[in-house]
Amino acid sequence: MSAPAVLPAPVILRRSPPTVRERAALLLGRSARSIARRLGRSGGTAIPGLVAGALAPRLIERLALQPGHGVVTVTGTNGKTTTTHLLAAILRAGGIEPLTNPSGSNLERGLIAAYSGNVDSSGALPDAGRRAGVFEVDEAALARLLPRLRPRMSVFLNLFRDQLDRYGEVDSVAEGWARGLDEMRTPPTLVLNADDPSIALLAQHARGARVVSFGVDDDSVALGHAEHASDARFCTCGSRFTYAAIYMGHVGRWHCPSCGRTRATPEVSARRIELREDSSTVEIAIGQGDAAEAFTFELPLAGLYSVYNALAAAAAAHALGMNAGTIASALSEAGPAFGRQERFEVAGRRARLLLAKNPAGLNEVLRVLTVAESPLTLLAMLNDGVQDGQDVSWIYDADLEMLATGATVVCSGDRADDLALRFALAGVTPVAVIADTERALDAALARTPPGGRLDVIATYTAMMDVRTALARRAGVGAYWEGNK
Ligand SMILES: [Zn+2]
Repeated sequence: MSAPAVLPAPVILRRSPPTVRERAALLLGRSARSIARRLGRSGGTAIPGLVAGALAPRLIERLALQPGHGVVTVTGTNGKTTTTHLLAAILRAGGIEPLTNPSGSNLERGLIAAYSGNVDSSGALPDAGRRAGVFEVDEAALARLLPRLRPRMSVFLNLFRDQLDRYGEVDSVAEGWARGLDEMRTPPTLVLNADDPSIALLAQHARGARVVSFGVDDDSVALGHAEHASDARFCTCGSRFTYAAIYMGHVGRWHCPSCGRTRATPEVSARRIELREDSSTVEIAIGQGDAAEAFTFELPLAGLYSVYNALAAAAAAHALGMNAGTIASALSEAGPAFGRQERFEVAGRRARLLLAKNPAGLNEVLRVLTVAESPLTLLAMLNDGVQDGQDVSWIYDADLEMLATGATVVCSGDRADDLALRFALAGVTPVAVIADTERALDAALARTPPGGRLDVIATYTAMMDVRTALARRAGVGAYWEGNK
């Protein structure tokens, strides 16, 4: 590989210690967190940030200057948490200690909370010289955070339609990202998904900064047809993109027939992908032609969407100077991120938790399930909280029809009835509809053969509920106990 094995020194930014007011804000935030944890209702992942950010509004700017290896942001509709988790694992394997927001608390308050849990009483990050901030950032929050966090690298994964009540149209989200990049004095290295045209076109805002693109080059995993969730994408010239291969939604090898703009050959590509029921084999190539360096690894995660997340993490790690061996071994050893393909042994059954909160994400999860050879037992949960998306009509944009009609399905969550109707219309009539999480889990486990697998698909808040139930039954601790 042409990149050095040792992480190059980052650009040193003007660093000054936190002010007295900011230190006080951090300490107050920390006490707010311990109170929240003692009350037992949540991990208190956002509270310290809310308290501290309100007292010291410029705190995030100051904190972001501390990690010696700078800050990396990870943004996109789907895959932020897993990609952040995988990139953090690679950096750790390469001797860099990541500072990250592992529970998916990805607004400004979540980032401040990640710092406040790690700084000492003077507000300084211990061992800052060998640390890097690796943060997933909410799509809508990124535009305003870019000029303030001043990341050295920004990873952009994909842009799908998601919770329109919160984000507005996808085009305005992409415009926000471009504006945020334009407002930065020094643009970051851009790590871009070449296969998603809305992401690839961000290269126009690099202003001379390095651009590392990643993408899939394996037609064996392409779809034979466009999906419902594939909202049409239009080129900046106004024409609709055409595709030589579609990998998911509007993501694939795209081309504009009018102006000739086309998907560029990615610098980091996944070729020879084998998707299995609960893992994948992936060959990643870095560089092109004779100069390319390729390595194959077993990814302990299922689905092409997981391959994209691993590919994005590999591209970012490569651009940070990590070598292929470190990347391959870290990716094959990294477990799942919180609530994303986590597995639990419960009552002699294997339960697997799959988060799905928008049509594109649900389609990819369903595609994972269709790989299974044995008949499916499925607990499907739909909530309509703010973090789930309050308008649940999005379930009609997902292709539930791809499930085999032999699947045994229990529906649950606040909107269990709506979900049951959607399944029935797809030809898979649920065997039970039970709003209550514990009772629904009992019913689904009872219908799973001993030694068999129960797949649990859930929207965000439903995932939090059912994960608590699964973790308790499996004897696993609460998530904040694992990442102090
Ligand atoms: Zn065009």
